[in-house]
Amino acid sequence: MAKNISVDVAVIGAGTAGLVAVSEIIKVTQNFVLIQDGPMGTTCARVGCMPSKALIQTAADFHRRGVLEKKGILGTEGLRLDGAAVMRHVRNLRDHFTNGMVAKTTRYGERLIQGHARFAGIGRLEVAGRCIEAKTIIIANGSRPALRPEWAALGGRVLTSDTLFEIETLPKSLAVLGMGVIGVEIGQAMAHLGVRVVGSARSGRIAGLSDPAVTKAAAEALEHDLELWSGHAADLAAEGGRLVVSAGPNRREVEAALVSSGRVPNIDNLGLEQLGIPLDERGMPHYDPATLQVEGLPLFIAGDTNGREPILHEAWDDGRVAGYNAVRTAAPARFKRRAGLHITFSEPNIVTAGTRFKDLEPGTFVTGRCDFDDGRALIHDQNQGLLHLYADVETGRLLGVEMCAPDGEHLGHLLAWAIQRDMSVFDTLKMPFYHPVIEEGLRDALKQAAARVRKKPHFPEMAFCENE
Ligand SMILES: Cc1cc2nc3c(=O)[nH]c(=O)nc-3n(C[C@H](O)[C@H](O)[C@H](O)COP(=O)(O)OP(=O)(O)OC[C@H]3O[C@@H](n4cnc5c(N)ncnc54)[C@H](O)[C@@H]3O)c2cc1C
Repeated sequence: MAKNISVDVAVIGAGTAGLVAVSEIIKVTQNFVLIQDGPMGTTCARVGCMPSKALIQTAADFHRRGVLEKKGILGTEGLRLDGAAVMRHVRNLRDHFTNGMVAKTTRYGERLIQGHARFAGIGRLEVAGRCIEAKTIIIANGSRPALRPEWAALGGRVLTSDTLFEIETLPKSLAVLGMGVIGVEIGQAMAHLGVRVVGSARSGRIAGLSDPAVTKAAAEALEHDLELWSGHAADLAAEGGRLVVSAGPNRREVEAALVSSGRVPNIDNLGLEQLGIPLDERGMPHYDPATLQVEGLPLFIAGDTNGREPILHEAWDDGRVAGYNAVRTAAPARFKRRAGLHITFSEPNIVTAGTRFKDLEPGTFVTGRCDFDDGRALIHDQNQGLLHLYADVETGRLLGVEMCAPDGEHLGHLLAWAIQRDMSVFDTLKMPFYHPVIEEGLRDALKQAAARVRKKPHFPEMAFCENE
């Protein structure tokens, strides 16, 4: 074994969580290492949030041509798509974002170690033939797309989000297996770019929605763009050289397939069994979500790999929590997590904030709704979708929202902020609503919910001076 290294903190994984953790650690000690296996630049910038949004934006721009003629803008039939140029544009933007993250990673010089980290014991790691002893270790090694080996064996036509952005040009047809956030975003974007898309949602759930009415509205919106199969497990097979997707009675020959049936935490590639601690069926140690500490050990677990909330701002917060606690010897600080917020950048946006419908106790809440069929949404040609917001039946405190709505990404932020501030529907209705804006739909839903709350304050939607 080559030279041993002894440090205060070792961080496994130079993704978002790992880099944010390091930015906390260096406030206290310079004696750390950041260990990265595989390409640098973070999942978000390389193969995640950023290239997917670049593809979605190009697709939305091209798709918009469909509504221009009725507005008197002619000549759209002359618009053509160069699939290879689309993918080059996505990769150029991807490279821009990735290069920025690589620069943020390589600035740590010798403290950045490239290689695969594995535990050799408590406080001990092996990386590329080196032994690293660390007073504290942060596991921040991300997740990977789930891909069944028999599907991987079908070759390059079977894509995941790791390989999708490398394709030379757009396929003529695409099967999307799994209609979670990634499947919905990429499936619809490909359809908007003229690819024939069939999407398969085994459970019938779409992009993490749990409210059946909102799920139905989301499915109807998606069906304008692609064929949606629900309720059957999908399979892929090569038949005489052709790629065939099937699910229950449905069957299609496709040029390519995107497997978007979930991501697997990389927790299984670390040799955690060396630590002699209890692991659950996924190989996950028990950790406190408020401190991210693995029970009783100088070990923290942050980002996608802990399986808590595999989204960027949560990985960012996890890095902050783990980095802060890793360099403090007192009892680890317990951090209050932000209100939940999940956005699928589809058209309309699919959003949940606060408590999901499925986690609410029946009889304890009232619902307000808006279907965005009029007003500004109509002017924008985005007059479809459904928003359901949930408030406490006794007090009107905002609990959560599920929606498939135009500008849902912005409505979701407003509601997540109000939920985190413990605001009620009555507090929220005292806020300004401009006219005409999509937020007026939100006001309709708030009013509906307010009317159903048991203990209603008597106020005409504006506060009296003496009560403020
Ligand atoms: C297609 C797609 C679109 C997405 N879109 C969004 C979005 O719009 N908004 C949003 O909030 N989130 C989105 N996400 C999720 C978001 O990208 C992730 O939640 C986030 O990037 C996770 O960061 P992380 O630090 O946990 O992991 P990562 O950034 O994956 O970093 C972990 C690093 O650890 C390395 N590693 C693994 N094992 C080892 C080991 N044993 N030793 C050393 N290094 C190791 C990995 O190679 C990796 O580089 C998207 C994800 C995908 C795939």
